[in-house]
Amino acid sequence: MDFKLTEEQEVLRKMVKDFAEKELKPNAARIDKSHEFPVDNVKKAAELGLMGVAVPEQWGGAGMDYVSYAIAIEEVSRACATTGVILSVNNSLVCDPLKTFGNDMQKEKFLIPLASGRKIGCFGLTEPNAGTDAANQSTTAVRKGDEYIINGTKNFITNGSVADTAIFFAITDRSKGSKGISCFAIEKGTPGFRAGKEEDKLGICASACSELVFENVRIPAANRIGAEGEGFKIAMYTLDGGRIGIAAQAVGIARAAEEEAVAYSKQRVQFGQPISSFQGIQWMLAEMHLKLEAARLLTFNAAWARQHKDRCSVESAMAKLFAAEAATKITHDAIQIHGGYGYVKEYPVERFYRDARITEIYEGTNEVQKMVIASSLLK
Ligand SMILES: Cc1cc2nc3c(=O)[nH]c(=O)nc-3n(C[C@H](O)[C@H](O)[C@H](O)COP(=O)(O)OP(=O)(O)OC[C@H]3O[C@@H](n4cnc5c(N)ncnc54)[C@H](O)[C@@H]3O)c2cc1C
Repeated sequence: MDFKLTEEQEVLRKMVKDFAEKELKPNAARIDKSHEFPVDNVKKAAELGLMGVAVPEQWGGAGMDYVSYAIAIEEVSRACATTGVILSVNNSLVCDPLKTFGNDMQKEKFLIPLASGRKIGCFGLTEPNAGTDAANQSTTAVRKGDEYIINGTKNFITNGSVADTAIFFAITDRSKGSKGISCFAIEKGTPGFRAGKEEDKLGICASACSELVFENVRIPAANRIGAEGEGFKIAMYTLDGGRIGIAAQAVGIARAAEEEAVAYSKQRVQFGQPISSFQGIQWMLAEMHLKLEAARLLTFNAAWARQHKDRCSVESAMAKLFAAEAATKITHDAIQIHGGYGYVKEYPVERFYRDARITEIYEGTNEVQKMVIASSLLK
């Protein structure tokens, strides 16, 4: 077993790290405060191929593998977790289903502009009554000739109000339960389709998160991704990949917090010595590092499985669950090591703590990941 990154992956890590340090980190606190969507960050990330890392070059992407994707999201999120989730959604939740289930015409029309970053995408699965129980969809798609007529509302959609293209799910046959759900693409500006209420969030504050509202929206039948009734399968397959992105986001946030905690512990003096000389602090740092490394290994393991296996649901669930819990604990302890200074906005660790918390919720809560893991043991 070889744990070394390839030369190509090492080059990518360095390139993304340099980019994130120079272009993203200096603005992260400002956009956290202003809640201003970071258009420039996305544009610059797109120039480096980071909007479609694991999409073949033929379809507008960087043509790399999923481990490279995890590396890129970790490095971006270490500098700016908001930008991390924007890119993660575009890569895994939008480009990936188009790459896997779209036909050539759909790849040409939707995937190339999204993977190259000329356009930005969002993924609409969640509804007010379909959160963890994602199959309980209310949005409907009724076939009329060569079109579908869509009605319903999605909520909590990352990139929702800024997206040019949305991948979304709707019921085409209610009698069939989860097998009556289908997947569609829709473009901004389609009559009757609009973003609704924008959420004011605890963390990842500059990422847009809104409702998507469909009122008698007509879309061509050619916008259906995959077969009728295949939508839930597409959504679950897509989330397997998305959870790797969120695990990588958690690893990036946790790494930023650990770095700040180590540096602060070496310069903060109490009782006439740096607090890093106290065993209580050292043990906290050791626990942080242990969790961080384990989280990254699980994330890479899931990314490797995504690349080489048909499905990676369990690997992805384990990576996301572990990395999210690790990020919450590591950012919590980073504040502890900073004492009162950790609680104020002059230092970045309070932002890391707020940013980390969502990784335990979106793309399936911790409880959902445990359901996936347990059901694999009990089948
Ligand atoms: C900032 C943000 C961004 C998001 N981005 C997107 C996006 O881009 N696209 C999208 O489609 N969705 C998105 N979501 C939605 C997100 O995926 C859901 O919020 C999440 O899946 C949980 O659903 P819910 O909020 O309805 O919680 P609920 O399903 O109501 O769950 C509430 C609690 O009950 C627990 N629970 C529920 N069922 C069970 C069970 N059977 N056993 C044990 N515990 C259970 C849950 O784990 C949770 O703790 C986003 C959410 C947020 C906050």
